[in-house]
Amino acid sequence: MKRFMEALRIVPRVAWLIGALAYLGLGAFSIYVSHHDPNMREWPSWGRALFFGLMPLLVIPYVALVGYVYADARRRGMRYVVWMLLAIFIPNALGIILYFVLRDPLMSPCPQCATLVKHGFAFCPKCGTAVARACPQCRRAVEPDWSHCAACGTALAR
Ligand SMILES: [Zn+2]
Ligand SMILES: [Zn+2]
Repeated sequence: MKRFMEALRIVPRVAWLIGALAYLGLGAFSIYVSHHDPNMREWPSWGRALFFGLMPLLVIPYVALVGYVYADARRRGMRYVVWMLLAIFIPNALGIILYFVLRDPLMSPCPQCATLVKHGFAFCPKCGTAVARACPQCRRAVEPDWSHCAACGTALAR
């Protein structure tokens, strides 16, 4: 629940706004259709209200999810515009699912200057402070459990 609230917080406000406008637009459109469709005019009015009031509501979580992908990809240092477009245009929310499978780990702040540093960087790009274990030969970041550097093969002291 806490993670869910945190996720809601990073959805940009404009995404909620777009979602609300899309809901109003869809609602108005479906009411218009219902008045012109001979079959639907037979429906009881509460049935129509339920159908056209609640169905378009689904657009709000969808737009919020796209907004989440945008904001989350951005804070992870990923290509956020590309990911947002994939989330919008790949049908059946597959772009959104793909995003959650492929997203990079969160960036962590540099202990010296608080700049957010991408996962896999050994040094802060802003101030040069070491933020992770680095290979003594090529200075690339190495994982804590490696015995050899993946980039140059140098044996690492454990
Ligand atoms: Zn720094
Ligand atoms: Zn190396």
